[in-house]
Amino acid sequence: MTNKIKVATTSLAGCFGCHMSFLDIDERIVALAEVAEFDRSPITDIEHCGPCDIGLIEGGVCNSENVHVLREFRKNCKILVAVGACAINGGLPAMRNYVNLEDCLLEAYRDGIGVENAQIPSDPELPLLLDKVHPIHEIVKVDYFMPGCPPSADVFWTFLTALVEGREPALPYELVHYD
Ligand code: SF4
Repeated sequence: MTNKIKVATTSLAGCFGCHMSFLDIDERIVALAEVAEFDRSPITDIEHCGPCDIGLIEGGVCNSENVHVLREFRKNCKILVAVGACAINGGLPAMRNYVNLEDCLLEAYRDGIGVENAQIPSDPELPLLLDKVHPIHEIVKVDYFMPGCPPSADVFWTFLTALVEGREPALPYELVHYD
C-alpha cells in the first residue's frame, strides 16, 4: 500500500514536446518521485490509465483512439489537466481544420510536393480520423489548463508541486509570458 499521489500522462495529437519539457525538470524528478508515482506514461509503458489523482493530457483530439484514451483518463483521474497549446486549443494539428479532410489527405499522400506513389492509409486497424481536431475541453470536462508550447519545466514544476501539496496552482507572470 502506498500513499503516493498517482500521476498518469499521455500524448494525443501532440508532438511529445510537452513531455520532453516535463522531463526538463531534471533532478527535481527525484523529489517528485518521492511523493508521486506514475501510472500510464511514457516512463512506465502502462497501456491503460488506472485510478489516478492527476492526469496530464498533451495534444488535442484528432481521431477515435484519442477520444477513447481521453475518456478513459477523465473516468479514472480525479484532476485532469490540459497540458500545452494543442490540448488547450488544438494547436498546430488544428491547422488542418481550415482544410477539407479529404483534400488534406490527398495533399499529404498524393498531391503534395515530394509525394510519389503514396496511398491514403486505409487499414481498418487504424483509428478513424475526425473531421476536425478538437481541444480536449470540447470532449470532456477539464479541471486545469497549463499554457505554453510547450509549458516550461518550471511551469510543470510549479503546477505539479501545488497540486501534489493540495494547493490551488497559480502561475506567476514570469512563467507565462512569451515575449
Ligand atoms: Fe508539441 Fe507545443 Fe503541442 Fe506541446 S503544445 S504537443 S510542444 S506542439
